Amino acid sequence: YAKAAGRNNYQFYAEPMNAAAARHFELETHLRGALQREEFVLFYQPIVGTQDGRVQGLEVLLRWRHPEQGLVAPDDFIPILEENGLIVPVGEWVIRRACEQSMAWQRAGLPALPLAVNLSARQFVHRGLMQAIRTIVDDTGIDPGLLEFEITETALMQHGGQTLETLGQIYSMGIRLSIDDFGTGYSSLAYLKRFPVRKIKIDRAFVRDLETSSEDQAIVAAVMALAGSLQMAVVAEGVENEAQLALLRRAGCEFAQGYLFARPVDAEAIPALLQKPD
Ligand code: C2E
Ligand code: MG
Ligand code: MG
Ligand code: MG
Repeated sequence: YAKAAGRNNYQFYAEPMNAAAARHFELETHLRGALQREEFVLFYQPIVGTQDGRVQGLEVLLRWRHPEQGLVAPDDFIPILEENGLIVPVGEWVIRRACEQSMAWQRAGLPALPLAVNLSARQFVHRGLMQAIRTIVDDTGIDPGLLEFEITETALMQHGGQTLETLGQIYSMGIRLSIDDFGTGYSSLAYLKRFPVRKIKIDRAFVRDLETSSEDQAIVAAVMALAGSLQMAVVAEGVENEAQLALLRRAGCEFAQGYLFARPVDAEAIPALLQKPD
């Protein structure tokens, strides 16, 4: 009996694992040529002011148009790119493409909006990062003040001294920095103070149940107090309804991002979105 149960358990757990492993392998194989085949595409999601709902910036979000599977979400392929190191060239492509797009929008007469680009830990510690950024800024002619890099709390805390140096170099180019997914990792408050970071993005895990969870309300209040004393701006992620927005506003949160305002859209949809009356 024990043996039979053991076998059942084995089958129960092993089969989904094998399916996941097979998918991982399949994606990995295809990802290797995805950049050359031009299968990556950038989506953009507005970041708005909580008081007036006006668009204050756009977050750049990577998508992969898989030839058979259609649009693949970043959570399914970015961990693979980080694992095999391809995040470095792909991440550089993201920065370049976003800068080119910003310049195209400006030439078309759209307001010059700040663009927030996600940077993974692996990119962040890569030796060639600063040179790549300088080359992209030179080639595209973008005002570095329009660029912002989002780095997760965990990535920031990983590499002490070198991180501080890279952050300083980015900051001295006039590029802004923000801490992504704030509250999900472990930040040292002493470190936060030393980083030239002016913005915190509250993870959507704390926004989701904001209406009903007094714990989440307390966390948001604590983040607002911390940000206030460190003179950092705060963006709330994943705002999906008016009740959440009202609570965030009341807590003093100045910026928000979420399906309530707009989903991430492709570049062609942005001009209409900016002209939409609020
Ligand atoms: P993130 O940087 O925290 O980006 C916000 C994520 O929340 C996006 O998921 C966005 O589509 C989603 N989101 C926005 N508003 C709402 C909402 O109201 N409700 C819900 N449920 N979700 C919302 P997405 O685009 O799937 O990206 C997932 C993560 O992948 C990003 O999280 C970021 O960590 C990573 N990522 C995306 N693009 C890049 C990139 O170019 N480079 C790197 N290194 N990472 C990227
Ligand atoms: Mg982000
Ligand atoms: Mg985030
Ligand atoms: Mg995230």
